[in-house]
Amino acid sequence: MHDEKLFKQPPPQYGDCPICFIRIPSLVTGHRYMTCCGKEICSGCEYAPVYDHQGNQVDNKKCPFCRTPDPTSVEEAVKRLKKRVEVRDAIAIYNLAVFYRDGTCGYPQDYTKALELYHRAAELGYSGAYLGICSAYNNGQGVEVDKKKANHYYELAAMRGDAAARYNLALDEGNAGNWERALKHFMIAVGCGHVKSLKLVKSMYSDRHATKDDYTKALQSYQKYLGEIKSSQRDEATTAHEQHRYY
Ligand SMILES: [Zn+2]
Ligand SMILES: [Zn+2]
Repeated sequence: MHDEKLFKQPPPQYGDCPICFIRIPSLVTGHRYMTCCGKEICSGCEYAPVYDHQGNQVDNKKCPFCRTPDPTSVEEAVKRLKKRVEVRDAIAIYNLAVFYRDGTCGYPQDYTKALELYHRAAELGYSGAYLGICSAYNNGQGVEVDKKKANHYYELAAMRGDAAARYNLALDEGNAGNWERALKHFMIAVGCGHVKSLKLVKSMYSDRHATKDDYTKALQSYQKYLGEIKSSQRDEATTAHEQHRYY
């Protein structure tokens, strides 16, 4: 029962971009969280110039979704984030947890508080917050080191579409010699757009831990993912700025 749930291809982690309606890439540089409206915007829409009704390019340092100008100071950005935390925005709560973990942006370092906030963000639907919990258990930050618990949260993140968590689970299985389970995890991660996992399926094939058919399937699955996230606007953004790379 547990395995059945664990090895199911999860839905896209971030859904569709609210502006272009194309699937948001899983690569971290392929999307950006806006503290003004709490939206995840794709790199293509973030980069696209904004025009006024006369066709003149306006200052594009504005949120492409709600048109709020970008914050001009760290203080202003933190103030906005606090407002989003008040309306129970999961990603904002996660970001606040990171401030507590690192003791930055005017917050004292407090691992216990960070952990509590990770849990809240995860419960409110932000799968990335599970990785924060994993790292707390792996490093003993605010809790005793507990690899079993860390593994449990990697599984929860993976089931919600987090490819990095899935990749971690695959490596653990591979290290334990459980090639079949490792391959299953890698294949799902590839479907989530995880290119490192695709490379590892290839090396598993070279080492005869996977078949040619497995590798072909992985390639097809990655092509399918690319088909869902590719857009000319995103390509343009990547060509202009490497920091907008989305796959
Ligand atoms: Zn978009
Ligand atoms: Zn906005």
